[in-house]
Amino acid sequence: MCGIIGYVGPKRATPILLEGLKRLEYRGYDSAGVAVGLPGSLTVVKKTGKIAALRSVTPKELPGNWGIGHTRWATHGGVNDVNAHPHLDSSGKIAVVHNGIIENYRTLRGMLEHDGVVFKSDTDSEVIPNLIARYFEGDLEAAVKAALNHLEGTYGIAVVHADRPGEIVGARNGSPLVIGIGEGEMLLASDVTAMIAHTKQVVYLNDGEVVFIDAEGYRTTDRDDQPVRKQVDEVTWELNHIEKGDYPCYMEKEIFEQPESIARALSGRIERDIATAKLGGLNLDRRHLREVNRVRIIAAGTSWHAGLVGASLLESVARIPAQAELASELRYRNPVVEKDSLWFAVSQSGETADTLYAMREIKRKGGTVLGICNVVGSTIARESDGGVYVHSGPEIAVASTKAFTSQLAAFYLFTLFEARMRDLSQEEGKRFVEALESVPAAVAKVLAGRDEIQRIGKKYSKARDFLFLGRGLMYPIALEGALKLKEISYIHAEGYASGEIKHGPIALVSEEVPSVFIVPNDGLREKNISNMREIKARGGPIIAVGVEGDEEVASIADDFIATPRMDPRFYPFTMVVPLQLLAYFCALDLGRDVDQPRNLAKSVTVE
Ligand code: GLU
Repeated sequence: MCGIIGYVGPKRATPILLEGLKRLEYRGYDSAGVAVGLPGSLTVVKKTGKIAALRSVTPKELPGNWGIGHTRWATHGGVNDVNAHPHLDSSGKIAVVHNGIIENYRTLRGMLEHDGVVFKSDTDSEVIPNLIARYFEGDLEAAVKAALNHLEGTYGIAVVHADRPGEIVGARNGSPLVIGIGEGEMLLASDVTAMIAHTKQVVYLNDGEVVFIDAEGYRTTDRDDQPVRKQVDEVTWELNHIEKGDYPCYMEKEIFEQPESIARALSGRIERDIATAKLGGLNLDRRHLREVNRVRIIAAGTSWHAGLVGASLLESVARIPAQAELASELRYRNPVVEKDSLWFAVSQSGETADTLYAMREIKRKGGTVLGICNVVGSTIARESDGGVYVHSGPEIAVASTKAFTSQLAAFYLFTLFEARMRDLSQEEGKRFVEALESVPAAVAKVLAGRDEIQRIGKKYSKARDFLFLGRGLMYPIALEGALKLKEISYIHAEGYASGEIKHGPIALVSEEVPSVFIVPNDGLREKNISNMREIKARGGPIIAVGVEGDEEVASIADDFIATPRMDPRFYPFTMVVPLQLLAYFCALDLGRDVDQPRNLAKSVTVE
């Protein structure tokens, strides 16, 4: 959600800032802007809409080799040019970009207005430059620190002053900020993707830290001015990972990357000879892991669906009671943290505010929390007691696809590990490993059916409502299918446990409402078939995602998507893929902005 970029060095700042903002687009935003410095003055350009719109109003040859940029996802004040960032103080000398929410901005604004400050925007953020101005006596970093003492809420900020050429001050409290170390140049961004074209050497800031950068280097301190020593990390992925290549959009690219991304999540983590998993990052000793009596998973959105699959699997395979819960609900419920429970916080970005805050609450109560994250160095990854990186590579499309299947892979590995410490025999373990290793090829086979799914997508894209139905492990997959469709096509869709339809949703069934049934050849197949017949009898069109050669399911359905026959425990991987494609092709047919759907943000860093 929203993004920050800053640059100082020998080059012209504007193209670097605009390019950085372009790379942050995927996070979701509604307006953008830059402030570029020339000694003694700042040029600020801001614009509602896409980066292309900002680019078109930015003077081509804007000089100045230091500056800051922002993509805004409005929280306070409407979406318009004035509310876009950067915001200036009333003298016009100090510019600030801000991610997050200043909760006490009304009080601060009142106080500043009383002192004669005239505000131009309706944002909470505009108090920040004016507070800094109040304390500025030549030292920008000192003035920022003095201002921070007044702020309540969350922020990642970057600040420049017209009279301090070549200096940028950043601070973080709840919204990510990363320093990029270049050769004779320095960058600052909310997200590594914005800087990767310039450097791979990065330093992740923690909450409460302040950074000063100029072209020569950086200095980190806490808010009380005590130096903080930081470690320099090397980004392991390449620029081409965040480029579309030959694909028309990121979502399609990411869907099609899944055979490799799942293989990457599994790579080096299976001990074939003893049929178990090796998860180096858990940071817990064997005894601790053996004594876990309950697993609790917290997450939001798609990650929650992965958690639901994980919980179901842990119960059935490892025989550990497990539950997946919505982080935003759990956090405010005063949860009981039992001493033999193990918690997982699941988040692609590792910055999801709901999940992060819930995790902190559980840790505060003494719980052990492991993270399942994709973004290396993210807040959840760093604050958790250990965990599993899913290594799906940067996921740029807002709607998550490859990160989901990689999160599943992490749960399958953990389940195998726990099960093999308990009752799963070596023989059974071997079968589990073989099935797990067959997943990437099976997913590739499903992807080969792309054209048929495109045809089906076109056929149904004008429907206004969809039902997604599944049982057992396929229930979370039904929820995920419905979510994908909603997210990118804006078609209303509901995911339900198939057995629940007769308790209410069947009232929705009509010729206009297609039902997508997910029907593996597991122990629940017959039950699913009965439910399909119930829908059929009421005239509802049916799309079935089933197993190749299942003539009975194919004959009841109006449209049938065949997937390879698998060990039934592994169908979540293969059966979610047609649902991703279905959502994608419906959205494409409707002309939607698939990668950046309206109102959504990639990493949801506000509650
Ligand atoms: N709260 C600020 C605003 O609404 C910042 C939003 C953001 O994080 O982009 O302008």
